Amino acid sequence: MSDPSPLIAELPAGAIPGIALVVKVKRRTARMRACSEMDAKAKLCAGHLKRWFTAPVAVTTEFGAELYRCEKCHTIYLPHPEEQPRTGTLSW
Ligand SMILES: [Zn+2]
Repeated sequence: MSDPSPLIAELPAGAIPGIALVVKVKRRTARMRACSEMDAKAKLCAGHLKRWFTAPVAVTTEFGAELYRCEKCHTIYLPHPEEQPRTGTLSW
């Protein structure tokens, strides 16, 4: 299965405080809730995508305030353009 979420950018190691790895920035597909990253063994990450409220200003300036991040591999996901942000009790 090919990865349906296009890669937007890659942040160099250290661009996000506390994460000494290259961090990918990808675009979510509609209703996407799990990470589609593959690890070195081509195993699907499938970590949950959570709203990232504590993103550094340098990241929100470049990619916008509404960001999601995989809780396992820290890949950053941008919102799907045709999807409204979740609010209230159904948010994640
Ligand atoms: Zn992941």
